[in-house]
Amino acid sequence: MPLKLMMALTAAVLVSQAWISAATAAECQRKDALGTSRVLTVDAATFPRVGRKSFPQTLPLEDHEVVLTFDDGPWPPTDAKVLAALAHECVRATFFLIGKSASEHPDLVKRMAAEGHTVAHHTWSHRNLKYTKPELAGAEIDKGIAAVENALHGVSTTTPSTPFFRYPYFEMTQATLDNLQKRGIAVFGADLWASDWNPMKPEQQLKLLIEKLKAARKGIILLHDPKAQTAAMLPAFLRYLRDNRYRVVHLVPASAPKDASAADKK
Ligand SMILES: [Zn+2]
Repeated sequence: MPLKLMMALTAAVLVSQAWISAATAAECQRKDALGTSRVLTVDAATFPRVGRKSFPQTLPLEDHEVVLTFDDGPWPPTDAKVLAALAHECVRATFFLIGKSASEHPDLVKRMAAEGHTVAHHTWSHRNLKYTKPELAGAEIDKGIAAVENALHGVSTTTPSTPFFRYPYFEMTQATLDNLQKRGIAVFGADLWASDWNPMKPEQQLKLLIEKLKAARKGIILLHDPKAQTAAMLPAFLRYLRDNRYRVVHLVPASAPKDASAADKK
C-alpha cells in the first residue's frame, strides 16, 4: 500500500475514534454524570481469557478503572431500573445474557444494544457446563449465542456479533475453552464481585461491593441485573464511583469472529 494512502487511512481511523469519544460525551446531557471514560477494544487473539477469578490474566485497566458487567438477564422488571441508572450516569456496561430469556424478551435485548451497551453471551439455560455431557455443553453455548443473535439481528447464527462469553458459575471444561478460543470468542471471568446471588438488603449489597472495590482498586466487576437488590443499589453505587474518582471503561469487540461452523469442522 502506498505510504500516503496508509497515512490517510490511519488518520481516518484516528478521526473516527475521536468522533466516538466526542459522541459519547455529547450524548450525555448531564454535566455532573459519571460518564464512560474510555472504550477498550477486546480482541480474543490478545485476550482469550480474562478475569482473575478464573484466569491468570485480566484486562489492562489502570488504577481506579472499572468495567461493569451484568449476568443472567434480560429480566424486564429489574432491567428497567438498571438501564435507567446506567443512562442517568451516561455509563455503558456489558450484559452477558441467557439465550432462553433473550428469546422471550427480544425487545429488551435490542434496547440494551440501542442504548450503547455491549451484549454478550452466557449459555442458553444457565446450566453448569462442568457437569453437562460434552456434546450437550457445546450445544448450550451455541443455542445461547444463536438466541441472542436472533433477538438482536433476526438471524439465528452461532457466530456472535460480539464474541464475548462467560461461563455460568465460572465452571468450565477444557474442551469448550479450546473450542471458544478456536472460534475467536473471548472468555470473561471477573476480578471482583459482591456475591449478589446471596439475598441481602440493597444497603448491605452496596457496602459489601464498595469494600471489595476499595481492596481491589480496579477491575471487571460482576453483578446480576435480575437481582432486585442489585438494581436497587446501582444508582448509589454509580454515584460512589463518581464521587471517588473511579472511571468506567466500556468494552467493545475488536472484529467479527471466525466462522463458527468452520471452527467446528477442525
Ligand atoms: Zn450467571
